Amino acid sequence: MAGEHRIRYDESGRVVCPDRVEVGFIEGDGVGPDIWAATRPVIEAAVEAAYGGRRAIIWVELLAGEKARALRGDDLPDETFDRLRTLGVGLKGPLTTPVGGGFRSLNVTLRQRLDLYACVRPVKHIPGVPSPVKRPELVDMVVFRENTEDVYAGLEWPAGSPEADRLIDLIGREFGGLIAPGSGVGVKPMSRPATERLVRMAMKYALEDGRRSLTLVHKGNIMKHTEGAFARWGYDLCAREFADASVPEAEVQARYGGEAPDGVVVVKDRIADAMFQQVLLRPAEYEVIATPNLNGDYLSDALAAQVGGLGLAPGANIGDKCALFEATHGTAPKYAGLDKINPGSLILSGALLLDHLGWAEAAAAVRTALAQIVSAKTVTYDLARQLDGAREVLCSEFGRLIVERLRS
Ligand code: NAP
Repeated sequence: MAGEHRIRYDESGRVVCPDRVEVGFIEGDGVGPDIWAATRPVIEAAVEAAYGGRRAIIWVELLAGEKARALRGDDLPDETFDRLRTLGVGLKGPLTTPVGGGFRSLNVTLRQRLDLYACVRPVKHIPGVPSPVKRPELVDMVVFRENTEDVYAGLEWPAGSPEADRLIDLIGREFGGLIAPGSGVGVKPMSRPATERLVRMAMKYALEDGRRSLTLVHKGNIMKHTEGAFARWGYDLCAREFADASVPEAEVQARYGGEAPDGVVVVKDRIADAMFQQVLLRPAEYEVIATPNLNGDYLSDALAAQVGGLGLAPGANIGDKCALFEATHGTAPKYAGLDKINPGSLILSGALLLDHLGWAEAAAAVRTALAQIVSAKTVTYDLARQLDGAREVLCSEFGRLIVERLRS
């Protein structure tokens, strides 16, 4: 029967997954083929270890980036969007984005066209991973970054272009705004609906995962009608839709005598610059974060560094009907084809994908096996250079060791 091996999303948005399920994959550019080759056997071994043949993934290759250009003459063929929409779930390697010209970012285009409105990045320390902070084990946060608006809306015109000049002229004439002639101009839109759906997803996650707080991170002291509105809309949404399950930080004392009970999420907000200091100095006070696009980009990379760097930073782009899991890092071109880079980010993104399918046992198996290999100090170059007594292994070998652990 057509579609019998595909996930579907029920009325409440939950995934219903068959035991044999088709999952799309995009190999990616640069180091993409290296990390994909290491990741696929790990995911398959974890599913086998957890379900002994009762469940399996059927991988469906989708073309994007350089491979798509070579084979189809198009960086992002329509077929890739259509198939991802039908499959509802995929795993992708990084794709190249030339700076300052050429095609618009493929990653952004994928997220926008599939309406994958939340970029979700869990950040948790794996014991034994070298970190630049003293207590990395206190970092256990999940960042929900808005994925369709703010700088991702892509409304930007180059300095000296007719569009930029007209906009500067219009802003001066109609709104009394002063912009130096000849400037490049960008527009940063943020809407209530896009903010609300992101905060709703973050709040639902906080409740389901038993988290104690949701922090809205914004720069509303300066950008009152975009970033500031993000925080206000976020608080309003929580008060309206999660009245019994959430409490604003300012009311915790009055309502609960200083400490919210279990099952009630404290909603707070922090100015973005202060938040960068907070996550370094008081990480244990932050659990789930919802933030506009640009803040989220900075914050999730900085948090990844606190727990060992981009090599172990998983991510997901999630919408209501489709989810695309991906390594947080880029194509790292200088390492392409060297079988050197850390595949941990894509492997851990694969674990998130397994969670999404509802295959929690397989997801846990991936994380446990990877953590065991890392704590044995058999690591790729990025961790080896920071870790005394480490044995440096290749990308493929790191994957193979995890597979062996899963089979043992
Ligand atoms: P990058 O590819 O993330 O690499 C920057 C540096 O991060 C690398 O040189 C390496 O540092 C470290 N790194 C990245 N991945 C690693 C891994 N798996 N293991 C260990 N270390 C890792 O960033 P970029 O060079 O700025 O971007 C290259 C291209 O990727 C650009 O075209 C960019 O637009 C694109 N990009 C794509 C995505 C995506 O597809 N989602 C995301 C970000 C960037 P060391 O040199 O110190 O070893």
